Amino acid sequence: VSREVKPDDTQLRVGNLTIGGASFHVIAGPCSVESREQILSTAHAVKKSGATMLRGGAFKPRTSPYEFQGLKGDGLALLAEARQETGLLVTTEVKDTATLDAVADATDILQIGARNMQNFSLLEAVGERRKPVLLKRGMSATIKELLMAAEYIVARGNTQVILCERGIRTFETMTRNTLDLNAVPMLKQLSHLPVFVDPSHGIGVRKAVPAMMRAAVAVGADGIIVEVHPDPPRAKSDGAQSLDFSEFDKSMNEVRAIAQAM
Ligand code: PEP
Ligand code: MN
Repeated sequence: VSREVKPDDTQLRVGNLTIGGASFHVIAGPCSVESREQILSTAHAVKKSGATMLRGGAFKPRTSPYEFQGLKGDGLALLAEARQETGLLVTTEVKDTATLDAVADATDILQIGARNMQNFSLLEAVGERRKPVLLKRGMSATIKELLMAAEYIVARGNTQVILCERGIRTFETMTRNTLDLNAVPMLKQLSHLPVFVDPSHGIGVRKAVPAMMRAAVAVGADGIIVEVHPDPPRAKSDGAQSLDFSEFDKSMNEVRAIAQAM
């Protein structure tokens, strides 16, 4: 994935979109798919505001086994419906190799979560596919380790990888994680792969997410993935960091303005 091997930026074709290069893309949607109404209303709202892809977890890797684990197969079906109805491309997390076939059928980009960044069997399995992968940085992983995780995928022949900075663990407790924006220019310098930023998990504080969306554009990211929910206080996961529709819409205007100025 090094620029020494391939000096020019890798551009991924996903459906009718080109990721990397001059374009900037926003993936938006709820942390978890919760219901038909929730995912369809969110898909329509984020599309109207300018998102080109929809996110939504179906198989959720929750810290506690007693928390909502996602709608699983039903969640995938609802994502497929939202995709069909809005034309938005879809990304959802693949949590393990056992569900890879089902998830790959339902999604345009396979999301590998922070907790799985060094799940080498999973990396090898997605490396065998010819489907784009959004690889999130582990919460305690170095930039080098993220690049090596990407190598696992590319080494198996799948060169369509997006790197994603989503915040790392530091001594700070006021925020959920520390969004390491340093990683963006470093990754862009070291690697030819597109780089995305997840401001939602990166800071974890709803009112602070828009500032980090703007920062992500300014620092040179190729896109962002952001959590949006129709009613954040009632979300089944990550409500504290999810934007509502109007907050997202306002942030998108700011993001567009910065992207155009770059
Ligand atoms: C998510 O995108 O909802 C998620 C679980 O993210 P991460 O893997 O970065 O924690
Ligand atoms: Mn989440």
